Amino acid sequence: MDIKFAHRLSYKQARLTVLVGFVLGTLLSLIQIGIDYASEDASINREIRSLIEISHNPASRIAYNIDAELAQELTLGLLHSPAIIRAQLVDNNGVVLADVDRPRKEGTYRPISDFLFGANRQFEDRLFLSHMPNESLGMLRLDVDTYAFGSRFLHRAEITLANGFARSLLLTGILLGLFYVMLTQPLVRIIRELSTRKQARLDCPPGHENDEIGVLVNVANQQFENMEAEIQQRRHAEDRLTEYLGQLEDIVSARTLELKASNQSLSQSNDELEAAKMNALGMAQARAAFVANMSHEIRTPLNGLLGMLALSLDSPLNAEQRQQLSIAHDSGKVLVELLNDILDLSKFDAGQLELERIPFDLGSLVEDTANLLSQNAAPSVELTCLIDPQFPAQVLGDSTRVRQIVSNLLSNALKFTRFGRVDVRLSARDGRVKIEVCDTGIGIAQDAQVKIFQPFTQAGAGITRQFGGTGLGLALTHNLCEAMQGRLSISSEVGFGSQFCADLPLPAHLPAMRQAPLKGEVIAITSAGSGLAELLTSLLPSWGLTPRCFSMDDDLTGQKPDLLITDCPECLFRIRPGISAPVLLVTAYGNFMPSEEVAALAPLQQQARPLSRNALYQILQRNLRSDTQPILDPVQLEATPLAHRARILLVEDNPVNQLVAKGMLGKLGCEVIVAAHGGEALKFLEEQRFDLVLMDCNMPVMDGYEASRQIRRSGRWPDLPIVALTANALSEERERCRAAGMSDYLAKPFRREELKALLDLWVPTTTSL
Ligand code: ADP
Repeated sequence: MDIKFAHRLSYKQARLTVLVGFVLGTLLSLIQIGIDYASEDASINREIRSLIEISHNPASRIAYNIDAELAQELTLGLLHSPAIIRAQLVDNNGVVLADVDRPRKEGTYRPISDFLFGANRQFEDRLFLSHMPNESLGMLRLDVDTYAFGSRFLHRAEITLANGFARSLLLTGILLGLFYVMLTQPLVRIIRELSTRKQARLDCPPGHENDEIGVLVNVANQQFENMEAEIQQRRHAEDRLTEYLGQLEDIVSARTLELKASNQSLSQSNDELEAAKMNALGMAQARAAFVANMSHEIRTPLNGLLGMLALSLDSPLNAEQRQQLSIAHDSGKVLVELLNDILDLSKFDAGQLELERIPFDLGSLVEDTANLLSQNAAPSVELTCLIDPQFPAQVLGDSTRVRQIVSNLLSNALKFTRFGRVDVRLSARDGRVKIEVCDTGIGIAQDAQVKIFQPFTQAGAGITRQFGGTGLGLALTHNLCEAMQGRLSISSEVGFGSQFCADLPLPAHLPAMRQAPLKGEVIAITSAGSGLAELLTSLLPSWGLTPRCFSMDDDLTGQKPDLLITDCPECLFRIRPGISAPVLLVTAYGNFMPSEEVAALAPLQQQARPLSRNALYQILQRNLRSDTQPILDPVQLEATPLAHRARILLVEDNPVNQLVAKGMLGKLGCEVIVAAHGGEALKFLEEQRFDLVLMDCNMPVMDGYEASRQIRRSGRWPDLPIVALTANALSEERERCRAAGMSDYLAKPFRREELKALLDLWVPTTTSL
């Protein structure tokens, strides 16, 4: 290990010591010189004074004797003193007896000497004799050059300083050597040993066992021992760690192998699961397609069956035959509903249910549905549609599915109610619609209510036996409500009836229609708790009327109403002689009064339950606007032939279906021309004029889609309504028909009422009543 000379400790210490010594030495030398200077300065005056004292007496005698020769000798003698450069003797009268001088000495120290002591000094001695001291004899003047003293002093000072420096230098050398030997050498040795570290312990340099270096070596040795022990421990720990790591690696590789194996089996089972899932999905799709196809295949013959049965029921039959055919017809209808429910449920399972969002009149939809189902109501059951007068004219949603919900709930209510009321209430609030179906039927036990929304579940064991049914309707309704982000709730008590409430998010599209206010007095005769009373008191005020309700036994003598509304035919016979106002009689489905009785009670108009808002408003409008205008009997109207006979082109290949549709249309007063396929239909259209085309979709030669496309493409019959007839109940079918240019859609098997509603919609001028 090589340490630079200037970096060595010995050098640094020596440098420091010498610096301090040098400064101190210089200081001491300067003090010494200062003292010397003071004494030298004093010695100048002292020496000259002693010279003057020696010369005083001879000079006084010379002045007394005025001896110029002696005076010259004396002054020359004084010039021998090295400091005196001029000597002058003057007598009492100022006559110069002698005046001698010599040049000043020059030298290198002159300027410093002159600075320190002054260039020269003058001394005067008054001359007198010792026995007459007051008598002045003259003056002895001496000029002294201080350089003689100054040069001597400066020479001495020079030696003093040089001496000091030499001592410092010597001291530096000695100290450097000493420090090197005492400090640097042993330290360098220790450092060398430390850097090479050949042995475990450091050797203490001889002679340093007890000083700081010895202590340093001992402490270092102690630390080495500690470090050695620690390193040993670490080595030991490292060895153990390596051992553990080896074990761990073994475990990890074993686990990795296990994981690999289980991963393999997992991915294998994943693949199997994926394959199973694909298989299941495929099967579900195949099942859905199968169900749809099956439903199509079943519907076609069923359509024929039901149509034929309906036609047969319209022909003259004996009571037994009628009953048998009615049962067959009803069973067929149940079969159709069952088919629809199974199809819908299978769609839910396959996740295929798609909901539409189109504007529709929910109020009218409820009334139409109730109207259609009213034939299922028991004679003692009063079916009423109670629609909030503020209910929007149109809401946004899937009308087909909402119709299904209303229809399922209502047909259940009518099925399980033998006496009392069945009400459908409709209200809207904050973009949500509440459809409540309340009945006074058999009710549902609490424990059955919990599972009633599960498929194939019925409230009691005897239900199927007594009422029939499959337990699918509510499950489907519940699923439909959930699919629409709505909720279906139930509240029921055995023996007191049930209340189902479907709360659906159907935002308003058009606000409630404002009907022109009416004027007149309306009296209602009905029992206080009847649906008719509730309907009239809720609806009529919104049209500006205040109905007065009387019970069946009340006396109406003296009353002069503009219109009398009642659901009690017996009361009419009692009050008719006293009141001549027109009467609206609300009856159960198929319970119209025979025409002789109607004639006896005229003017009388009959209307089947449930009373729709539109029908009621029109009757009120007609009767309250002009008292004299006769009332047309709807029964008669029903039987009245159509103002114009609608010409219908029926495009259908199946002869049974042809017969059914033709029979129904004939009964509705239509003239029917039948085409066996699309090509024939186009030919007929070229030759004749038609009000509507009923187009089957699947036909040989040219199917209904192609025929409709060609009709629309030709541009010759842009306003001609084409209504698709199809047994395929899937919703995509409707879209397909629309895309082909068809105007509407009627699913087979259809009922006469459905066909009539369709004709009312598309050819109103020829068929409306
Ligand atoms: P289905 O009527 O075809 O049996 P649903 O799913 O429509 O199937 O009804 C399931 C069961 O719920 C019915 O069998 C009946 O026990 C009970 N239920 C439904 N609605 C009513 C109701 N309004 N009153 C009494 N029971 C009802």
